[in-house]
Amino acid sequence: MRLGFHVSISGGFSLAVRRAYEIGCRTMQIFSRNPRGWTVKPLDPADIAEFKRLREEWDIGPVFVHTNYLINLASAKPDLYQRSIEQFVIDLERTEHLGAEYLVTHLGSASGKEPGWMIERVAKALNAAQKLHPPKAMILLENTAGEAGDVGYELGQVRQVIDGIDNTSRIGVCYDTCHGFAAGYDIRTKKDVDGLAKEIDATVGKSRLKGIHLNDCLKDFGSRVDRHWHLGEGKIGDDGFRAFLNHPFFREVPMIMETPKETEEDDPRNMKKAKSLLK
Ligand code: ZN
Ligand code: MN
Ligand code: MN
Repeated sequence: MRLGFHVSISGGFSLAVRRAYEIGCRTMQIFSRNPRGWTVKPLDPADIAEFKRLREEWDIGPVFVHTNYLINLASAKPDLYQRSIEQFVIDLERTEHLGAEYLVTHLGSASGKEPGWMIERVAKALNAAQKLHPPKAMILLENTAGEAGDVGYELGQVRQVIDGIDNTSRIGVCYDTCHGFAAGYDIRTKKDVDGLAKEIDATVGKSRLKGIHLNDCLKDFGSRVDRHWHLGEGKIGDDGFRAFLNHPFFREVPMIMETPKETEEDDPRNMKKAKSLLK
């Protein structure tokens, strides 16, 4: 089983993989650049080579890259929509230069628009992006909490986006447990986890599920509020994560924790918790 964290790239990608190794990651997630700005620094070939060498040496993989937060593939604003497609392609190219396997993206939002409109918009954006840059890395669509008009809070919506994509050979799904819980997918009991597994299989299909974002949820079930929390310390709790982590449907899927990092002890504590719940 592969467990890991989202780690900072401050100081370079080779430093990111060192951070991951130190906290016991067997898989990891990073941004390819500052996630809250449009500016992009060129990749440093020596840093990339060292990143690749270390992850190979320490057997850390797969590597997930998360897209920039400003990208909105459902935007109703023509300028932002076009820019989002271009910036998505930049993230995709950087993912591939890093030798990372997956690029995780949210589906986006458009205020005042129906989900159907946004779904079509996202599928079109992904078609345009794949035309500009036929992907080698796999693009993973992440379910959302449904906060602030985000589309993708129902697995059926994620499926509809996939249905609108011309070439789906490099399209997969990343399931976030906090987002799902906030959007109404319960995992607090074994029966709930069974239900979620069935739902994922019936909508996007088991074969597309390539990654899990393993996050507890600070806010209530169905709250639609996206606040990640420490494993077992939120509303999902120990029993929920025990059921989830040991479920055959999810067990073999690489899992990334995007839990808060307020102190140096947070990541080691969350890793310890995840391992302690594994049977
Ligand atoms: Zn995300
Ligand atoms: Mn996530
Ligand atoms: Mn989130």
